[in-house]
Amino acid sequence: MTADRFAEAERIVAHDEPHAFEAVVPPIVQTSLFTFATLADMVETYAGRKVRNVYSRTTNPTVTLFEQKMAALEGADDAIGFPSGMAAISGAVLAFVAPGDRIVCVRHVYPDAYRLFETLLKKLQVTVRYVDGADHAAVEAALPGARLLYLESPTSWTMQALDVGALAGLARRHGVMTMIDNSWATPVFQRPMWLGVDLVIHSASKYIGGHSDTVAGVVAGRSELIRHIRQTICPYIGAKLAPFEAWLLLRGLRTLPTRLRAHEAAALTLARRLAEEPSVATVMHPALAPAMPPGLGGTSGLFSFVFDDSIDIPAFCDALTLFQLGVSWGGHESLVVPALVARGQVAGPNSAVDFGVPARMVRLAVGLEGTEALWADLAGAIASARRAS
Ligand SMILES: *Cc1c(COP(=O)(O)O)cnc(C)c1O
Repeated sequence: MTADRFAEAERIVAHDEPHAFEAVVPPIVQTSLFTFATLADMVETYAGRKVRNVYSRTTNPTVTLFEQKMAALEGADDAIGFPSGMAAISGAVLAFVAPGDRIVCVRHVYPDAYRLFETLLKKLQVTVRYVDGADHAAVEAALPGARLLYLESPTSWTMQALDVGALAGLARRHGVMTMIDNSWATPVFQRPMWLGVDLVIHSASKYIGGHSDTVAGVVAGRSELIRHIRQTICPYIGAKLAPFEAWLLLRGLRTLPTRLRAHEAAALTLARRLAEEPSVATVMHPALAPAMPPGLGGTSGLFSFVFDDSIDIPAFCDALTLFQLGVSWGGHESLVVPALVARGQVAGPNSAVDFGVPARMVRLAVGLEGTEALWADLAGAIASARRAS
């Protein structure tokens, strides 16, 4: 199934309809507006009887091409590009909630999604109940009367891979809409639409772009849900993906399956070797968990592990040379970030929520520098950060 998935993704990212001037690469249509030859044409368009580009806050050909490719990759009818992953998350959520609504959210979602729920949504009198996504009884108990089930799998930091199909099935039984942040797995490894999820969200700043040069987001789904977001959110929030960013994302997509193969292989090797290290207490990587959920057809390059007390974590981070200290992930470069930096943010103001991110956790984004060079970097830094006992 994974082989077929790769083949289908490869065909979608490689194939285009012919572009203007027989250009092999689509043009960047860098324009704010599109003109009309006749007033009749303009009138027909404004009356909704003719569909064409009018103004780039609404549609732009380069952006549309990216949106169509993302929809094809996700098995969705349509998609909307956003100028960031957070714009995609807030746009999708705000389109479907109203004061008094309740969201059920799995634990350990992306920290800024959590903060969106705890600040702006609270102000709009939308409440959020956090549940352990692996505890299906707890999820089901929270669903009656909820407006939305918000998923992320694997979860941020803890890398808990959830049974997305089972969770979507529970939500459907209770008439609750589902959304998932699919940034980690990408459509190459996980197709949430096929698992019954209503809307799929990406931070395209990660693997979709793939080169750490673009901040962008996407929402994909069935045409009526996408149309609702397009009509009720996009024009007024005005958060629109720019043509140049869409062009960079189209370029990134060309190599998405190929890059993911390399990220997957390198990260798996490093995770397995770290699991053998005496100073490593736990490795959080979906492929090292007792079982991968059905529907997750592969693993990408981001995972976490927990050091025991024998390692000085600041010394470890500073000793690394290939792994650079930095947030984000999904680019060509390897990155490291210890949980001690992010924990204060993630724990947030809601003390009732047990985020359970251990203080001695370290997150690695495994890039494309070569597995053995990356392992030498990790092993060397571990050796130099070992405390005298
Ligand atoms: C980075 C990230 C986001 C936010 O995306 P931006 O493009 O930075 O706004 C959302 N979800 C996950 C899982 C992320 O890693």
